Amino acid sequence: MERPDPKAFRTAVSRFTTGVTIVTTREPDGRTVAMTANSFTSVSLSPPTVLVSLRDGRTLRAIARRGRFGVNVLPASAREISSHFAGRQVPGLRPAFLESDGMPRLDGSIAYFDCHVTQSVVVADHTLLIGGVTGCGYADADPLVFYSSQYRVLGAEFGAIPT
Ligand SMILES: Cc1cc2nc3c(=O)[nH]c(=O)nc-3n(C[C@H](O)[C@H](O)[C@H](O)COP(=O)(O)OP(=O)(O)OC[C@H]3O[C@@H](n4cnc5c(N)ncnc54)[C@H](O)[C@@H]3O)c2cc1C
Repeated sequence: MERPDPKAFRTAVSRFTTGVTIVTTREPDGRTVAMTANSFTSVSLSPPTVLVSLRDGRTLRAIARRGRFGVNVLPASAREISSHFAGRQVPGLRPAFLESDGMPRLDGSIAYFDCHVTQSVVVADHTLLIGGVTGCGYADADPLVFYSSQYRVLGAEFGAIPT
């Protein structure tokens, strides 16, 4: 099977606009662990089911042990939080977590989903985590947007405002 040039593939994929989420879970000792992910998608309404695609790392391994994860959708103001949980730590930033059915929920998110892992599928260098949703909530606020490898905010009219 032929493959496209890796840079062309990455750039083409970046043209698909997404929101930005923080995926959370707990280590066996109760500590919160979290990472930035934009691979979130809703899979089914009945039963309510979502999906995230995660590369091997601390968060994925903790989710595999716990069997549960949370997805927190970021507001437009949360660019630094996204960078922090993508491994580019921001000095002085102290993200706050609330409790949600025994799991950490990021304070200030514009939507959240409490999930139990129902399936886990390894594909290439990522794992697709299929989550049955056991709880969710939302607020009315503008989202953080990711397009062409850059953060954006929604414009008042058609189109995006570069940040
Ligand atoms: C916009 C965007 C979208 C992304 N989407 C995806 C995706 O869909 N799938 C994917 O696999 N990767 C994605 N990434 C990359 C991913 O976010 C990073 O590779 C991340 O570092 C992986 O996290 P980790 O838990 O594996 O490892 P780590 O790098 O150990 O953890 C992430 C960071 O969060 C900090 N952190 C963790 N828990 C806490 C806590 N409780 N309090 C304070 N800080 C904490 C850590 O110190 C570390 O800096 C995305 C990155 C960006 C910027």
